Amino acid sequence: MEKRLSRRNSLIALAGLAAAAAGWRAEEAEAGPAAVASGAVSCVLTPEMTEGPYYLPDEAVRRNITEGRPGTPLALRLTVVSVASCKPIASAKVDVWHADASGIYSGVQGDTGTFMRGIQPTNAHGVALFDTVYPGWYTGRTVHIHVKVHLGGNVVHTGQLFFPDALTDAVYAKSPYSNRPSRDTRNAADSIFRNGGSRSMLRISRRGSGYVGAITLGVHRS
Ligand code: FE
Repeated sequence: MEKRLSRRNSLIALAGLAAAAAGWRAEEAEAGPAAVASGAVSCVLTPEMTEGPYYLPDEAVRRNITEGRPGTPLALRLTVVSVASCKPIASAKVDVWHADASGIYSGVQGDTGTFMRGIQPTNAHGVALFDTVYPGWYTGRTVHIHVKVHLGGNVVHTGQLFFPDALTDAVYAKSPYSNRPSRDTRNAADSIFRNGGSRSMLRISRRGSGYVGAITLGVHRS
């Protein structure tokens, strides 16, 4: 709480300077820190979580990251907003990476592939879209997707996205996931999920033979 207050105070102090700052959008200055401080706007800061050992920089810019690998189709709809104003952030670069259906990350541990990794820019509505498959599990972790948000050359968010356990159970009951042993870790037992994972849950809806996973990521612009 103390940290949040000091952040808020520094935002209030900055508010007067903000209008003059290059790159600060006019509408954000209007609805920004002062509005947040007054309670007129509230936006949820998406929790920061470890990037883990499998991040690789310079991933390909592409919407479909599967490279033809099997799995239950999953469309990701990731919306990036400023936590100060709740307004969408356009032209951010959203970077995702996750294990394939068999629980393998590309490009690490001797693998030379690039599957299940990619970057998409946000559009004018702050939305980045990916087409992938439901991730497989690996030892000691609940099912998750890693995400970074880059803005103007800076990383403004590093997090992980999670799925309802009941949905994972249903997906994993089918091929190719059902060819593997049962996963060893569910959300409640995952050390990373326990630190804010409930605020990083994808909202799931059905689409065709698969799903759409959507979430709004509230980030600081720097
Ligand atoms: Fe991971």
